[in-house]
Amino acid sequence: MPITSNKVVQIHYKLTNSEGEVLDSSEGREPLAYLQGAGNIIPGLEKALEGKDTGDKFTVTIPPEEAYGERNEALIQVIPREAFVDVEEIKPGMQFQAQMGDHPQIIVVTKVEGDNITIDANHPLAGESLTFEVSVDSVRDATEEELAHGHVHGAGGHHH
Ligand code: ZN
Repeated sequence: MPITSNKVVQIHYKLTNSEGEVLDSSEGREPLAYLQGAGNIIPGLEKALEGKDTGDKFTVTIPPEEAYGERNEALIQVIPREAFVDVEEIKPGMQFQAQMGDHPQIIVVTKVEGDNITIDANHPLAGESLTFEVSVDSVRDATEEELAHGHVHGAGGHHH
């Protein structure tokens, strides 16, 4: 059956950036299961999958605005070391989870200069054009419960 809203879709995929580096792949793993139309995956990929069917294979390049957004300089901030309670040593590359509005956000330490710590709350893939090689593994109707929750249950999906 073709992929439309409220279908549970399993895909295998390979994600590369504009330099051709492989960032993620489902190779050797269970396929990724998601609920079409629920915003489980980035908008550009969901759009590219609409109407595709089991066995279809395709490659799509998604610009930042339909992936993880443009980089936002306002999300780069310098904060004092005292803000990091319970952290003994702060080094560039360290990641922390912070609550930003209603969703958790990963922040990365990008620079340490004395007591000035530069953090970046942009998604690591913000500003990147992403190329996905996709093959559609299966398509099925979502259950009532999956629709109510807005995500997939069972193998390859979300577990309670
Ligand atoms: Zn659920």
